[in-house]
Amino acid sequence: MSSIIQLLPDHVANQIAAGEVVQRPASVVKELVENAVDAGATEIKLIVKDAGKTLIQVIDNGKGMSVTDARLCFERHATSKIRHAEDLFSLHTKGFRGEALASIAAIAHVELKTKQDQEELGTHIVIEGSKFVSQDVAVLPRGTSFSVKNLFFNIPARRNFLKSDTVEFRHIVDDFERVALAHPNIHFMLYHNGSEMFNLPQSNLRQRIVNVFGGKTNEKLVPVTESTEIMGIQGFVGKPEFAKKNRGEQFFFVNDRFIKSPYLHHAIMAAYEGLLKDGSQPSYFLYLDVPPHTIDINIHPTKTEIKFDDDQAMYAILRSSIKHSLGQFNVAPVLDFER
Ligand code: ADP
Ligand code: MG
Repeated sequence: MSSIIQLLPDHVANQIAAGEVVQRPASVVKELVENAVDAGATEIKLIVKDAGKTLIQVIDNGKGMSVTDARLCFERHATSKIRHAEDLFSLHTKGFRGEALASIAAIAHVELKTKQDQEELGTHIVIEGSKFVSQDVAVLPRGTSFSVKNLFFNIPARRNFLKSDTVEFRHIVDDFERVALAHPNIHFMLYHNGSEMFNLPQSNLRQRIVNVFGGKTNEKLVPVTESTEIMGIQGFVGKPEFAKKNRGEQFFFVNDRFIKSPYLHHAIMAAYEGLLKDGSQPSYFLYLDVPPHTIDINIHPTKTEIKFDDDQAMYAILRSSIKHSLGQFNVAPVLDFER
């Protein structure tokens, strides 16, 4: 009997997976910058041209890759971050799927330059549409640089569906800000079409928020700290009188990862009950620390959703500690807890 089922060649499988991982230039930014964070970089520079349609380059001073790894990183399911299924329950890195670089290299022209500290020379690899074009040794500084050009060159439909540069760049800034807020101890820079858009030196959390959102933000912030067995909370909520019409300054991080949670957002709104004008939105920058085995971040490839074991308890803790912080600030001058 003949069979009609065949395994797809790698480059086809990669291109299909890329559809999930890479929706737009900002997705590439997120994956590359998170890789730089995982590599232990203390300085990360993002260079973008034409909202990422022409160029996205991320340069880091992290640990770099060996020649073999520089080649392997473009394979699907190739990762240095987990080895066993159990590792999924104790994640300390942003990445773990080993899919991003294989996906990006399937639908763009990618140039990698990387060098480890202990090596004298580094590796320079060019890969286009999953095909290795060249590989050389090169004199390089410690760290890694990925340049991504001609995104979606082989998926014209995707390329045509990209929005205006203004919209696509806004998405890039959103993703950039999220990583920058999650890692105030890293120096981040963003250049667009040759102009410096952000230069965020290493700092504490309050200073990072102010550097991202401007000097006026400082007086708005009320510190929140809490420590229970279920979770720790650090960060800031905005004073009610500074609440805005839009939700642009609302950030949740769980174990240093930006997440979206309508449920926990509701807990915060409940803490502000009676304090806000109708429909106005408070700012918040909240960092939750939860034991890694009590969460599942594997439910979506872009990992902005998380499943919590005990979200009802988290709701209650979040609501009461924010209420408490807001109340304290109403009766007494705010103490300045720094993260
Ligand atoms: P993941 O991050 O899920 O492991 P990726 O496809 O994003 O998968 O990256 C594959 C591997 O390439 C990583 O596990 C890491 O070992 C290596 N890598 C990627 N980017 C960097 C970087 N900037 N510096 C050092 N190593 C990197
Ligand atoms: Mg990654």
